[in-house]
Amino acid sequence: MKIYKLGEEIIRQKCVPVELDEINDSLRETFNEMFETMLAADGVGLAAPQIGVAKRYFVIISDDDVRRVFINPQIISTSNDLCDYDEGCLSLPGFNETIKRPSKVTVQALNEFGKPFTLAADGLLARIIQHENDHLEGIVYIDRGDPTFAAEVTEKMKKRLERAAKKEAEKAKKAARIAAKIAAKEAKKA
Ligand SMILES: [Zn+2]
Repeated sequence: MKIYKLGEEIIRQKCVPVELDEINDSLRETFNEMFETMLAADGVGLAAPQIGVAKRYFVIISDDDVRRVFINPQIISTSNDLCDYDEGCLSLPGFNETIKRPSKVTVQALNEFGKPFTLAADGLLARIIQHENDHLEGIVYIDRGDPTFAAEVTEKMKKRLERAAKKEAEKAKKAARIAAKIAAKEAKKA
């Protein structure tokens, strides 16, 4: 799966709830692919917009190694005490920043079979849930940190995307040239 990056529209989109009849084998296959993509990229969480889908779901693996799927999650309570944690994101590769957030959260969601559950989380798990839940609102962690750093990262990501697009365009041009040459040769033969 392609992981979408900051600078691509989908990362800033507000996601819509998943309908109950959308929770089927095909969606469960998507979750499997998300876990594989996330693990291959050394991530601990991945939200739907990061794979180009504006729907409310995300997957997580925390330090207890359990694979968790959250569909239509809602954070129903957060602790008053905050803590610092160094966050990174697969949609902003190469950056990280210490972000302050509530240290505990309680979340309600549906699992991959559409069954409701409530989870009280602290530590790393609480942090990942908040980070991933933000993605469903089009929010990335730098929005909650130093504005100067956020502007810097946004600009760098934009430049990176522009460079990648230019490279792609050059590649396509080259391929077209080669195809034209081959066609000309074939035409001569005929
Ligand atoms: Zn993220």
